[in-house]
Parts: sequence; structure tokens; C-alpha cells
Amino acid sequence: MTDITAESRGSGRNPVAPGAGRTVASAVPQSLVGRLARGVSADPGAERVQTRAPFTGEPLAELPRSTPEDVEQAFERARRAQRAWAETPVRQRAAVLLRFHDLLLKRQDEVLDLIQAETGKSRLHAFDEILATSMAARHYGRGAAGYLKERRRGGAVPVLTKTLEGRRPKGVIGHISPWNYPLELSVSDALPAFVAGNAVVNKPDTQTALTALWARELLIEAGLPADLWQLVIGDGPVLGPVVVEHADYVSFTGSTATGRDVARRAAARLVGASLELGGKNAMLVLADADLDRAAEGAVRACFSSAGQLCVSVERLFVHSSVAEAFLERFVARTRNMRLGSGLAYGADMGSLVSERQLETVTRHVEEAVKAGATVLTGGRARPDLGPLFFEPTVLDGVTAEMAVCAEETFGPVVSIYRFDTEEEAVTRANATSYGLNASVWTKDLRRARAVAARLRTGTVNVNEGYAAAYGSVASPMGGMGDSGLGRRHGAEGILRFTEAQTIAMQRLLPIAPAFGLSEEKWAALFTTGLKALKTLGAK
Ligand code: NAD
Repeated sequence: MTDITAESRGSGRNPVAPGAGRTVASAVPQSLVGRLARGVSADPGAERVQTRAPFTGEPLAELPRSTPEDVEQAFERARRAQRAWAETPVRQRAAVLLRFHDLLLKRQDEVLDLIQAETGKSRLHAFDEILATSMAARHYGRGAAGYLKERRRGGAVPVLTKTLEGRRPKGVIGHISPWNYPLELSVSDALPAFVAGNAVVNKPDTQTALTALWARELLIEAGLPADLWQLVIGDGPVLGPVVVEHADYVSFTGSTATGRDVARRAAARLVGASLELGGKNAMLVLADADLDRAAEGAVRACFSSAGQLCVSVERLFVHSSVAEAFLERFVARTRNMRLGSGLAYGADMGSLVSERQLETVTRHVEEAVKAGATVLTGGRARPDLGPLFFEPTVLDGVTAEMAVCAEETFGPVVSIYRFDTEEEAVTRANATSYGLNASVWTKDLRRARAVAARLRTGTVNVNEGYAAAYGSVASPMGGMGDSGLGRRHGAEGILRFTEAQTIAMQRLLPIAPAFGLSEEKWAALFTTGLKALKTLGAK
């Protein structure tokens, strides 16, 4: 055990960030809600669904609820619009993304207000979404023509066969997105789909639909034909299966349980799906790590968006020789994080998004404490700040039978584990069915790469928690094992929205006996030719 002082064992309270003077109601007026609601694919007289602001619990937006028939009509409209869009030159399609990039940076404050109002996250964490979304827009705006261009490939018979590999859009993408990063996760997967020539029918989480609707308006302003992005709103178990039923490909981000259901339905129709699912991500602090940087990094890795981040760290493995020194720094920083609900920069962490989230976080912490875990800091809700606030929490002494050990909490809770050898750290980090993200802290980059190569996760961040890999949008991002299938970002992030097509043009001679050659002679000639091709190094 460490000699963490009694004060750091949860007796201090996290300080409160100053308010911003603006209320959610003034930042998100009903006139704006009404305008955005017109972007929902639903009958104007549709039943309404109510969302609430997590910061205060007060009503935020009343939105039309799409029916399964609305979803079907959305697909029809999207399909009609997609035909013309697929004929539009790729550079013209890419220009829309680049204009969107500029508009987003210019008008970021509008959407930062919406993201904060809908999710309850701090402004800095909301800004993460501006970063990630604009990076994806720039990357695919600049890179799409290269990714999609027709490529010459070696033909069946050199000289006689000219072969081209092309990419065709899938058609209409069914895109189902969660509430935790409503801008980034609604838009960043849609952008490569659009630029590859597809239309999108998107079902965002109802709680964060305003952000997705705002982004749709902005993309239309940037030049996207309006019918190309259809937004449907309603319960996941009701509308989700209808989206999958009509899609030519499914892009899903959400929980592993829902992802399995989506995968089963897509498989039954023989359409592809990319699934970005949950994680139980590990951070490894090796003996030679810079402990101040690691402690700072751990705060970001564990508590960004109050831990409601798929790539955030929930298991922190520290080398025994530095555990005490690291924890002293990490716990002190965590305890000093300012909590707040201001619609302005200044708070280090905001609120959870929903009662369900608060219930899971509370249950994981309370069960662990009851079973013998120690709270080093945090460990309690903060109703004095808002109905869904929970302090950033560091747990020690967590054991295998506690839910918080293996299950995704998806909240501001991290457990500390000590290790003595790197071998042990890697084995324990890998001892999970998930495989999304990992973080390794050391001054020795060669060592970091060797450790990274043995971690079973789709991304590994060295001396950073998650942002280095997530922001490297030219490289693939996604999960192994229960964390998903397929990847966003990079070549895989756009090619998943295309079908490969091979066009092979045969010249002069058929690939069959010719010039009166007998079958035997033709086979012998071809055998000689095949040997020669291998000798000449042909692939
Ligand atoms: P969720 O699976 O409950 O919901 C995600 C989306 O799926 C929502 O739009 C929801 O309405 C819809 N949905 C619900 N039931 C459905 C069904 N039967 N068919 C089709 N769609 C359905 O997930 P959540 O709890 O809202 O989101 C949090 C989860 O998402 C966490 O597990 C988190 O790790 C994961 N996540 C993963 C990534 C990633 O990139 N890997 C990113 C963010 C969140």
C-alpha cells in the first residue's frame, strides 16, 4: 500500500469552477430547437420526444419521433439523391468537406453550446470534438481523390491483359451513433461515406440529436445536397433494426451488446458493417516514466468527458517501484480538478449524461468499496452541482470479483493496479475481452514500441492517453475482440464505404488455346510462361 494521506482518501471535495453567466435555455433558445427539428425525417405531425439538459435536468428540446415508415421513406429519398451524387466528380465532393472544415472552425461556439447542453461535458472536452471532426474533414477532403482513384494492377497475362481496380460507392449507408461524442461520431464517419459517393441515413442518439441536426445544416451550407443526409430520431431498438434492414452498409458506434445485434442483422442480409464498440482500456506506467507527465496524462486519459469516452482509461497499471510517487501526483491532480456546468472554458470536468450513467457509476464504486476497495479520491455524486455530477474517482485494492475490474464503467472511475515486470503488465492489460485502446508511459521509445506490439488493442498511445492515436486520422482507429470490427480513419475508414471493382481488358489473344495450338501445347506454353513470370519476379 502507498502512504497516501487520509486527506487524499476522498475526504477533500473537488473544487467548483466559476459559472459562465449563460444558461442552457439562453444558449439553446426554442427558436433554434424548432429550426433544427425541421431537419428530422418525420411527419410534421409526429409524436414528440423530450430531451433534458444533464447540467440541470430541465427540458431542453422537443423533437419529432420518426416511425419505421419514416425510416423507409428516408432511405428512398437518400437513394434518389445518391444516384446524382455518385456521378459528381470526387474533387467536387471533397470540396464540400473542406468548406465544412472552415465553417466548423468559424462557427464552433454555436455547436460547443449544443454539445455541452446535450451531454453535460465541459467546454474543453466538447472542443475535442471540434478537433477530431475538423481533422477528419481535412483528411478526407484532401485525401479522398487519392484513396478512390482507379489503380492499374498486374493483369492475368502481361501485356495482353490490362487490369484496373476501381472503387464504387456502396449506396446508402445506415449510420447509428451514440450520445457521448455527438458531433464527432455523427459526422466523422459520415464524411468519408459522402466523399466516396454515398448517401447516409443516420440515427443519432435522441439525447444528442440537436448536435447532429446542427452539423447536417452546416454540411448543407457547405454544399452537400440536402437529401443526401437523412436524420431519423427515435428509440434504438425500434428504429435501429429498420435502418440495418435497408442499408447497403452499416456503420455503428455504441455498446458491444447492441453491436452484436447489429452485426447479426447485417450478416443475415450479407451487408457489411463496421462496429466501434466498448473498451476497458489500460494505461501502463513503466518504471522509467516521467511521473509528472504521466500523472497529467492520466487525468486526461481517465476523466475526459467524465470518462464517457470509448478510448478512456479505466485500468491503470503502475510499476511498483514508482507507484507511490505516481499516485501522490495523480491523486492530488485529480482531487484538484474543478467541476462545473458553465457554458465556457474553465471547468476540468462536467457532468454525466443520464440517470442510467449515474446509476452504473455509483453501483460500480459502491460495490467495489463494499467488497474492500479503497477510494483514494472522489467516490461520490455531487448533487450540489447538478443532478448528474460524480467526482473523478481513483480506486485502489480492486479485485477480480468486483464489477469495476472487468466491466466497462464508462464513467470517471479508474482502478489502480501494481506490477513488477513488463511481462506481467502486458499479460494483465491483455486479460480482457475488449481490445480498443492502450497507453504506455516510458522515456524509452524502443521499449514502448516493443510493449505496444504485444498489446492486443487497435490503438496504442505512447506518452499520451488517447488523443495522439485518435487524432492521427491518416491511420486506422478501432478495436480488436469485443471492441469491434473494422476501422474508422485512414484508408480503411473510407474504403469500407466502397465496393472494389476489377475491370480486366483482354487484348489480341484470348486466355485459351489459339493459333491452332493443341490443348497440350497450349498448356506447355503456359507452364513455361508461368515459370518465367516467377523467375522475373512478377507478383
Ligand atoms: P448503445 O449501444 O446503447 O447505443 C448506441 C446507438 O445505438 C444509439 O443511437 C442507440 O439508440 C442505438 N441502438 C440501441 N439499440 C439498438 C438496436 N437494437 N439496434 C440498432 N441500434 C440500436 O450505446 P450507448 O450506451 O448509447 O453508448 C455508449 C457505448 O458506446 C459504450 O459502450 C462505448 O464504449 C461505446 N462507444 C464506442 C466508441 C468507439 O469508437 N469504439 C465510441 C463511442 C462510444
